[in-house]
Amino acid sequence: MTTASSPSDHAAAAPAAPGAAVPSAAPAPGTTTSSDAPVAPAAPVLLLVPGIIGPSALGAGEEPIVLADATAPQLRVTDLGVTRGEGAFETIGVFDGRIMALAPHLERLQRSATMMELPELDLDVLAQAVRRAVDEHADVPELLVRIFVSSGPEGGAPGIVRPTAWIHAKAAPDYSGERAGIRVVALDRGIPSTAPQTSPWLLAGAKTMSYAINMAMIREAERRDAQDALFVSSDGYALEGPTSTLLVRRGDTFTTTPASAGVLPGTSLGSVVTGLRAGGLDCTEELLTPAEVAASDGAWLLSSGRLAAPITHLDGIALPVDMELSRRFCDLIAGRADA
Ligand code: PLP
Repeated sequence: MTTASSPSDHAAAAPAAPGAAVPSAAPAPGTTTSSDAPVAPAAPVLLLVPGIIGPSALGAGEEPIVLADATAPQLRVTDLGVTRGEGAFETIGVFDGRIMALAPHLERLQRSATMMELPELDLDVLAQAVRRAVDEHADVPELLVRIFVSSGPEGGAPGIVRPTAWIHAKAAPDYSGERAGIRVVALDRGIPSTAPQTSPWLLAGAKTMSYAINMAMIREAERRDAQDALFVSSDGYALEGPTSTLLVRRGDTFTTTPASAGVLPGTSLGSVVTGLRAGGLDCTEELLTPAEVAASDGAWLLSSGRLAAPITHLDGIALPVDMELSRRFCDLIAGRADA
């Protein structure tokens, strides 16, 4: 197993014990020892990516990707990702070793980074790092690989951004409950669906490291006896979930929120739309009100790790649930079905 080496100034801060051996990944969850005693879940994998903006920013002899100790402190306390939430991230689903929608995730990361005026990222290095993280992790049926790129430490030279980047891979939690159905409440986002055009500084549609509002929404949903929430624009349209894309069925037509309304363009949605279109079904983009969603023939919240979660109730109103179609959506997102 590789050991962590000292990162450079612009990479994540020094490991607690430079040169300390990285602990071996534990056996996959559900596996047993020779005595058949249950074992601990597989250990997460951490990679630091000092090569995030290409070789020119690397120190002499510095590797672009460095395996690090996922249990040790690694980040400077003055990193702008921590102090200001300035940065972008992605969560990629890996199913039985298949890395899903890698290129769309990397393109979206670059788009979010550009919206925050970060420099051009080296997407080839990132793709390599994602593959390495999967290789380093113990085999598990469902793995979440998160890529983080922050604006780097505070106090750099004026006008020069030296991003910090790291990749964290961990076994996915058990999402079977949510995949069977979720109760959802509509919550006001407080900005209109025209915000991307009128107020680009709100960064609507960027996947930024400032997810405190999204997490607060989920807590509010739980207080209201639901498992998830649906953002509603101040002009009254259903937008997206805090970590997911809305898909609505009306007859044989499937509708999602236009990206121009300030939602994150979903990679899972892309996989589902490709599959639906291959089956001759119509997919459109249209702004719908929560009342129209509640009166539809079915609705889902889609995302890369949880996959397709059918909405059983929106604000207490029951929606039809087609479990066979839901499973098909999950298979499309997880690469278990051909489009
Ligand atoms: N919308 C938001 C706000 C999200 O955070 C996410 C994913 O985390 C999604 C939509 C779904 O995106 P994807 O399908 O690429 O996972």
